[in-house]
Amino acid sequence: MKQRIILIAWMLLLPWLPGKSQSVYKNSDLEITRLSNGLWVIETTDKTTMYLVEGNQKALLIDTGTKCEKLNEVIRRITNKPLQVVITHMHPDHAGNMNQFPEIWYHPADTVLLKLMKPYPGKVHFVKEGDRFDLGGRVLEVSHMPAHTPGSIVILDRKEGLCFSGDAFGSGQVWLQLEPYAPIRTYIASLKKMENLMDHGIHAIYCGHYPYVKKAYDKEYILAMLRVATALEQGQTTDALPYEIKVPIGARHPMILTKGSASIVYDPDHLK
Ligand SMILES: [Zn+2]
Repeated sequence: MKQRIILIAWMLLLPWLPGKSQSVYKNSDLEITRLSNGLWVIETTDKTTMYLVEGNQKALLIDTGTKCEKLNEVIRRITNKPLQVVITHMHPDHAGNMNQFPEIWYHPADTVLLKLMKPYPGKVHFVKEGDRFDLGGRVLEVSHMPAHTPGSIVILDRKEGLCFSGDAFGSGQVWLQLEPYAPIRTYIASLKKMENLMDHGIHAIYCGHYPYVKKAYDKEYILAMLRVATALEQGQTTDALPYEIKVPIGARHPMILTKGSASIVYDPDHLK
């Protein structure tokens, strides 16, 4: 009897042990996995990604995914703390369900992309470099990393050494061919800014399409991206290949250049 009680107690405790990833909820749209203490990744069946971070007083939802019915109610299964919602950039696969939430935070440079979405009826808060979400015992900070879109941001958890990057540095490949995007030199500046952050305490980057990689990136990924971006800036494109894309927007004949673990999809007509 005593052994059974110990076994049941152990099973209940297991999901809460540090460092143990554990699926905690699943429906036909998405699956939620606990990554570490107060951190969950939400993966949709069409491979978009949200992250939920919880502090002592509040929680922060990073992005709102694609079609997830009753996402707001699903989030409540994980935390009942007051929720803030930040959008890393205004692409429909990252902001798809923002209408389910009464307030959102995003960078104003992406306002131009709102035309891709249904009108947002709630309250908008613009963020800028250095803005903070104080969740109580856990502070998350905004850093502006333009290129993929003009208003792309990453969210930093400096204490834990984490970065939630949306599509700012891609998820294996970054798209720099959908208007509006920034020139390659802007992307290089964002990469160098991220490299610097990784020299000062950030060690793990959780990207915006986690289902493709199932891990956090380390600094080597940023350096690999920097090598591809530098090659493009210098016109070294002999290894580039045509990129097949089903999205009927953006560059008409996009190309892709790959070096090691990093690829950049770009518009050869607007490289400079
Ligand atoms: Zn995107």
